[in-house]
Amino acid sequence: MSYCRAIESMEGERKALHKAYHDRLYGFPIHDDAELFGRLLLEINQAGLSWETILKKEAGFRSAYHDFDVEKIAAYREADRRRLMADARIIRNKLKINAAIENAKTILRLRRDHASFEAWLEAHHPRSKDEWVKLFKQTFRFTGGEIVGEFLLSTGFLEGAHSPDCAVYKRVLKAKPRWHDTSLVDV
Ligand SMILES: [Zn+2]
Repeated sequence: MSYCRAIESMEGERKALHKAYHDRLYGFPIHDDAELFGRLLLEINQAGLSWETILKKEAGFRSAYHDFDVEKIAAYREADRRRLMADARIIRNKLKINAAIENAKTILRLRRDHASFEAWLEAHHPRSKDEWVKLFKQTFRFTGGEIVGEFLLSTGFLEGAHSPDCAVYKRVLKAKPRWHDTSLVDV
């Protein structure tokens, strides 16, 4: 079942939580490196857990990880790792915390040749999901097929976040996701 359809059968607070993400964020391009990095961080933290758990903790993540500021996270020291491991608002997992810090450092390195994380992604677009997964595994920590696929769907680099009959589909197209850029896809 598609995410769009799954939400219809949800109820109450659970539905509100998913609907807010589905209607306003899922599949829409992100033009801000902190938000883009934040989405990758959240997808990585979802591994082994439900997306709902992550949505509930999003504000906590944002606060604990300095609004996903890439420079600040890349500069985290041992005291920050201890602080994060003690913060119940986030997922307290050493590997995931380490991935956030190392991936932030990687993005700073990518910015030497590309204006931004977004510019780096655009420089590699278009490519198949398998090629993206390979590239991410070579570049970032903690990036398996599911994490990379969801990150790229959710940020508009891969097609398929919303089904064409979903009310949000047209709004996503208006926001010009990269997958819909036919001039590039046809190359
Ligand atoms: Zn949808």
